[in-house]
Amino acid sequence: MNERITQDDLRKLDKSFTGNILISEDLSYEDSRSIFNAMIDKKPRVIARCLGEKDVARAVNFGRDLNLEISVRGGGHSAAGWGQTEGGLMIDLSQMNKVEVNPDNLNARVEGGATWIDVAKACQPHNLVTTGGTCPGTGVGGVTLGGGWGWLARKFGLGCDNLLGVKLVTASGKIIKASDKEHPELFWALKGGGGNFGVATEFTFRLHSLPVTTMGYLIFPPDAGPGVVKRFRDVISEGPDEICGEVVYMTGPPEDFVPPDLVNQLCLGLFIFHAGPENELKKIIKPLLEAGPVGQLIAEMPYSDILESDAVEPEIRHFSSSEHLKALPDKAIEKFCARAQDMPVPSNCLQALSSWGGEIGRKGLDGPIADRDANWLVYPFGMWADPEYDSRVISWVKAVCSDLSPYATGSPYLNLTAEESIERKIAGYGGKKKYQRLVKVKEKYDPDNIFRLNHNIEPL
Ligand SMILES: Cc1cc2nc3c(=O)[nH]c(=O)nc-3n(C[C@H](O)[C@H](O)[C@H](O)COP(=O)(O)OP(=O)(O)OC[C@H]3O[C@@H](n4cnc5c(N)ncnc54)[C@H](O)[C@@H]3O)c2cc1C
Repeated sequence: MNERITQDDLRKLDKSFTGNILISEDLSYEDSRSIFNAMIDKKPRVIARCLGEKDVARAVNFGRDLNLEISVRGGGHSAAGWGQTEGGLMIDLSQMNKVEVNPDNLNARVEGGATWIDVAKACQPHNLVTTGGTCPGTGVGGVTLGGGWGWLARKFGLGCDNLLGVKLVTASGKIIKASDKEHPELFWALKGGGGNFGVATEFTFRLHSLPVTTMGYLIFPPDAGPGVVKRFRDVISEGPDEICGEVVYMTGPPEDFVPPDLVNQLCLGLFIFHAGPENELKKIIKPLLEAGPVGQLIAEMPYSDILESDAVEPEIRHFSSSEHLKALPDKAIEKFCARAQDMPVPSNCLQALSSWGGEIGRKGLDGPIADRDANWLVYPFGMWADPEYDSRVISWVKAVCSDLSPYATGSPYLNLTAEESIERKIAGYGGKKKYQRLVKVKEKYDPDNIFRLNHNIEPL
């Protein structure tokens, strides 16, 4: 119990609030405090389920004035479980998920608690898209503020590159707009600097017309590894920006296109997205098809269906890290493949290598995200149910990154990384100079660091 909060404080907040104020005795408290990572089990003293920007401002003022630890829950998917706080105030944005598509102006206004499936579904009837995460339940807030890689990133840039503006409640409870014209330095910081500067209540994104999208899933036995991954590297490196892909060591799922002897066993999957038709994708990935996948599914499907096919059940144990690589020499591929043997199987763990490059490296190079000109990202992604696996998964995640470190740039993609050392965090924000610039913005908009449950930028 937090002694600083009195019943009177709660009553006052509740009276002014449009959404719900929840404490542990309330029926919906347990559901509301849930986040993706089941390793984190913190109990907020108060949950403010906001219904709009004014609720968010009231909640921020309440938390700041009572000196409570404040967590902001968007989609709830951060690896470190930053959506929750022990004994503090959780600002829950999950009810703020409206998406307003403006097909004439090719933009969409998205509330701060929406998920990527909310955006994709609203845009689909207009054949419009914007870059978001590949997993439907991840939050627009956390993903975009930390960069935002997804299937469309090589074609249209990261999620943050498509931002036209952000509405934000700052630490002082003020509601402001950031864009190229208003608070431009803050806008720069929001394109990678995470939730450090306030609570984003609305994002405006640029949309792109994309009537046809195709997804390809190719399955190989695990020992096909290095040969197939080298072909994958060459296909993507020589391919157009329209294709984007991932190599994923995983537990074979019980799907029709997965041979029975690989179901529940370690297998190698290639997931390849094409911002275009199926026949063109098949031409581009011919060398991969010739490598003899033992299972495959290639089909045109709406972009929102592609996201839905990647749904992961929440409340699973989770730990992850990442390494950017500019190039992918054969030796790095061999090391990557060899380490897959240590991944716990069966489990939901993924040992992934994703393609960056294309528009990511051409846009926003001065922004607070490291190594945009890297062409690859390796991320061991632990997702498992049994607490007995904890140390095994964490060791495997660290081992993958350490194996690849001789070939890596030394900076992680912070969105796919649990809490990091200060050195790695600074590297993840693009190095000392950019970090110092972020600190200046932090000092202006959150001088007392009330938004600190994130890859925290500490005021000087
Ligand atoms: C299954 C899974 C799939 C993923 N897939 C991808 C992917 O394809 N691409 C990718 O780039 N990343 C991906 N990620 C990583 C993802 O970018 C981060 O986990 C991100 O933090 C999730 O954002 P969230 O809003 O869901 O999480 P939350 O835990 O709610 O928030 C994460 C952080 O962002 C802050 N935040 C969230 N919303 C707001 C807001 N409106 N205003 C201010 N601060 C806010 C929070 O305070 C917190 O610090 C994935 C993660 C998981 C678990």
